[in-house]
Amino acid sequence: LKESYDLIVVGSGAAGMTAAIQAQELGLHVAIFEKLNTLGGNSNRASTGMNATETVVQLANHVIDDQDSFYEDTWQGGGKTNDQELLSYFVTHSESAINWLEKHDIHLTDLTATGGMSQKRAHRPDNKSAVGSYLVKGLQKQLLTKKIPLFSETTAIKIMKQGEQVIGLKINNREIGEKTIATKAVLIATGGFSQNKNMLKEYAPELLQLKTTNHPGATGDGMKLAVAAGATLVDMHKIQVHPTVQQDTNHVYLIGEGVRGEGAILVNQTGQRFVNEMTTRDKVTAAIDNLQEDGATLVFDQGIRDAFPAINFYDAVGLVMTAENLTDLAKKAHLDSEKLVATVAKWNDSQVKGIDADFGRETAMARSLALPPYYAIHIKPAIHYTMGGIKINKLTETLNETGDKVSGLYAAGEVAGGLHGDNRIGGNSIAEAVIFGRQAGKQVAKYIDEMN
Ligand code: ADP
Repeated sequence: LKESYDLIVVGSGAAGMTAAIQAQELGLHVAIFEKLNTLGGNSNRASTGMNATETVVQLANHVIDDQDSFYEDTWQGGGKTNDQELLSYFVTHSESAINWLEKHDIHLTDLTATGGMSQKRAHRPDNKSAVGSYLVKGLQKQLLTKKIPLFSETTAIKIMKQGEQVIGLKINNREIGEKTIATKAVLIATGGFSQNKNMLKEYAPELLQLKTTNHPGATGDGMKLAVAAGATLVDMHKIQVHPTVQQDTNHVYLIGEGVRGEGAILVNQTGQRFVNEMTTRDKVTAAIDNLQEDGATLVFDQGIRDAFPAINFYDAVGLVMTAENLTDLAKKAHLDSEKLVATVAKWNDSQVKGIDADFGRETAMARSLALPPYYAIHIKPAIHYTMGGIKINKLTETLNETGDKVSGLYAAGEVAGGLHGDNRIGGNSIAEAVIFGRQAGKQVAKYIDEMN
């Protein structure tokens, strides 16, 4: 641990690691501080993919997409309340982010779909495995080869300023205790606050009884650090409740949106569909809540299981019910078996016709449920993501209440607010972390160039 750095990155998720690599490649002396003894934050848990448009991967899969459509889907999904400056930067820099990862030996060469996206944009590893742990491992490898120091069990506790400018960071390291390190800039990349009950009570008391899919470090420290240093917050009451979370064991398991993206349907207790499974998360959650039942059930077949290998993991930890036919599956899942058989027959018929007359799901994104065995997972909504956070501009500079930047203080990733509006679309969080993480690395380098 040195006495001073050019840039200190707080948080070892995808945003922080990406920023550190980009900044170091531009010649900065960088260190990353992580408060836990594990790396990768919520990024490590991301399952479905990283959204991007106009990539060579899309073209290789004959997905003819464009930035306007990516913008429009994210804008509609966010209830047209997204920060448009951030959204424009986001959609115009997704392709270069995929290319940058590719150059750093991180290959997201397969595609899947997420709710609210009109095209297959969620880029994932070619073995179709979860994007998060793959990405975190790949970034970590880069940190090692580039010798970028990462100090774990080191909590950022105060940003030090002289006048209007950031000059240091006070940390608390498990072994050495409290210490102030000099730095020209700080990037806050500490993730969200889904694990902080007091903040949930303040911003969304109606959600307090829900469980969360988040890792233990998602405690909102970054928002507090930023406010104490003069920055302001936006959209703090906008909290995403993810529709498909398995909560019947003593661990809370997110069931990746790719299960639906590959074709699974959702049914109520009587075995009937009740929503377009591929609409946005807020709407699917609302439809489940409206049932006033004990959550709902995901139903799929072996074809879908093959296309989304995380299901093997869900099965290994005991979340998946299996049967050779739908009648037996209905019994196991406590659904009305006649209705379930009829529901699936109708669904398969709508695949043939190419139109989902009941709920308007884009059938092109799905496949028939016809290859046994059949599977079911019982799900309920849980807190998943905090859309709000530190106010930033497209340069990732943090802003105060009057819209002026806090000199030397940057934020990127889930800790920053505004990009997603009312509702984040699946696959946009990893994209945000990488796109704005890179941007933070570049902008801090520019800031320091101008200082010298
Ligand atoms: P993002 O996706 O925006 O990169 P993540 O949730 O993946 O966010 O990562 C944020 C990381 O920041 C987590 O590993 C978390 O433990 C860490 N973190 C949170 N608060 C602090 C803090 N005060 N000091 C250091 N690290 C922190």
